[in-house]
Amino acid sequence: MSRSVIDLLATEARFGAQNYQPIGVVLTRGEGVWVWDTEGKRYLDCLSAYSAVSQGHCHPKILAAMVEQAHRLTLTSRAFHNDQLAPFYEEIAALTGSHKVLPMNSGAEAVESAIKSVRKWGYEVKGVPDGQAEIIVCANNFHGRTLGIVGFSTDPETHGHFGPFAPGFRIIPFGDATALEAAITPNTVAFLVEPIQGEAGVIIPPSGYFTEVRELCTANNIMLVLDEIQTGLGRTGKLLAEQHEGIEADVTLLGKALSGGFYPVSAVLSNNDVLGTLRPGQHGSTFGGNPLACAVARAAMRVLVEEGMIENAALQGARFLDGLKDIRANTIREVRGRGLMLAVELYPEAGPARRYCEALQGKGILAKDTHEHTIRIAPPLVLTSEQVDWALERFATTLTQDFS
Ligand SMILES: *Cc1c(COP(=O)(O)O)cnc(C)c1O
Repeated sequence: MSRSVIDLLATEARFGAQNYQPIGVVLTRGEGVWVWDTEGKRYLDCLSAYSAVSQGHCHPKILAAMVEQAHRLTLTSRAFHNDQLAPFYEEIAALTGSHKVLPMNSGAEAVESAIKSVRKWGYEVKGVPDGQAEIIVCANNFHGRTLGIVGFSTDPETHGHFGPFAPGFRIIPFGDATALEAAITPNTVAFLVEPIQGEAGVIIPPSGYFTEVRELCTANNIMLVLDEIQTGLGRTGKLLAEQHEGIEADVTLLGKALSGGFYPVSAVLSNNDVLGTLRPGQHGSTFGGNPLACAVARAAMRVLVEEGMIENAALQGARFLDGLKDIRANTIREVRGRGLMLAVELYPEAGPARRYCEALQGKGILAKDTHEHTIRIAPPLVLTSEQVDWALERFATTLTQDFS
């Protein structure tokens, strides 16, 4: 006998730390773009676990790779070699055009690892005096939840009462190359930035911004670290969001969809000698680079390319964006997005976005509000045009709905 939704919610509330406020749906199964709740109701997943299940729920080929590897060997630690690591390195490097790879698990760990690596590079290669390295980051950033990272968040909810924090970070506005230029000092080792700010509400910088950023970083011998944990691996309609800007980062961070949602797998990729400064014993992770993670990531990258998901994200993303722009509703302040990373920002008078997400839930769509007035839309990249049109009808009726 399965447990009732009320029982499951009450039990979660009783035992769990209350660090989330989920929409009131209890999911039990997923396939492709769809998820089902415990009562059998089907929903189109327009969040994709914050872009981690880009390949669609329970992709059969990733599942098969995971099961096969789990039968054979799951964890060796890096004290020994395993036969999945080399092919994983080779394939991720070939896919992204990188020279060096550092495997980790969560996205936040990849960010932390990049921070450690660029600081070390700063001291050992650039010649910054020890303990003086500065990293420039942007206001409204989201790079994860570790102490190192939340210390340079500008969101009071994110850092409030968690201090004291590590020094060495300077915060500038996003999308403002002049501010970057002004913040650079001889001790600046890196600029850490998201190509599109995801958690901030899908904020796309002005065109030409990253060209200027790239030039400033090169001119001042500063590592450009792009956090592509959310934007990477096809989400924006290209393999990496940097390709829209025609630039290359020095360090690229991947996570989330790197495993198709099966398992936490992240990676720091570098084009130069940043990762080369790490010597044995100076950094590590028990689970980082384990054979199960490598096998899952290899399959997740393979299906992304073989099944045309990146091109599909560009195609369906354009269709979704056009359709959203066609909705005539006085609740909508702006519709924006790139590929299948979309957002509808509502006027404050329209009321909280969460209300609209709950209405969408009633119509069979799961989407997530962010920053009070924005609905974020990021379905799996295997979405079809029929499914886009199906979703658009429901967005149209919801956004024109009168809640008063
Ligand atoms: C989700 C996310 C992270 C953190 O990843 P976790 O796996 O949750 O630690 C970092 N940066 C960006 C841009 C993200 O979207």
